[in-house]
Amino acid sequence: MISTGAGISTESGIPPFRGSGGLWQNFKPEDLATPEAFERDPVTVWQWYDWRRQLISKVEPNAGHYALVEMEHLFHRFFLFTQNIDGLHQRAGSKQVHELHGNIWRVRCPAEDRTFVLAQTPLPGIPPLCECGATLRPDVVWFGESLPRDILNLAREVASSCDFFFTIGSSSTVEPAASLAWIARENGGVVVEVNEEITPVTEIANECFLGKAGTVLSDLLQAIKK
Ligand code: NAD
Repeated sequence: MISTGAGISTESGIPPFRGSGGLWQNFKPEDLATPEAFERDPVTVWQWYDWRRQLISKVEPNAGHYALVEMEHLFHRFFLFTQNIDGLHQRAGSKQVHELHGNIWRVRCPAEDRTFVLAQTPLPGIPPLCECGATLRPDVVWFGESLPRDILNLAREVASSCDFFFTIGSSSTVEPAASLAWIARENGGVVVEVNEEITPVTEIANECFLGKAGTVLSDLLQAIKK
């Protein structure tokens, strides 16, 4: 099982939430990515998402994303879960991507309870409106919100039965995704971490590769292929 976080996309030029370069106009992501912030000020929240959408539209997947595409073909049982909302795994060519926190290119109409892709960037108007007149929201999971039940259940099931659990580029501080490594470990899975820094998972990991995801995953892929 593979579980990726914002760190796999930094080499593409997308800043993470934590660490350097993650700021936008002096707002903290944690203060914008909440239902309360959206209720209070949907325009500012949408300006931030529009900025992120424009940024993501201009970048390309990197070596880390592409290594995972190749790995998908090499293993009979391969599951890729991501906390990322940028869609770069799919753009690289990964076929089975389970998005734990939604996707920045999808929007949701709260009035009609339906989601759809709104790919136009920059957005024609902020906040974007549904045909029914309601204010659309990004179809992403905000702090304090529940993850999609079916995807989270699948993630827990796979974590508890996998031989290997790779956590790549995640600070492992955002629950419930962070706990997946512990589920894997408790159920006999070998936990492997790929990160530039030490995280809470490091001390339970069987193996830890300190470095850039693009480099480490490319090297791992070559080693697997030998
Ligand atoms: P995070 O921002 O909390 O942590 C990023 C982690 O990646 C850090 O531990 C950092 O050391 C590591 N890292 C940075 N560059 C790396 C590299 N090149 N190689 C290896 N590791 C690297 O991210 P998170 O744990 O994913 O969780 C926070 C939330 O951030 C999630 O909800 C996610 O949806 C959201 N997020 C997503 C994106 C995206 O879609 N690209 C970007 C920013 C934040």
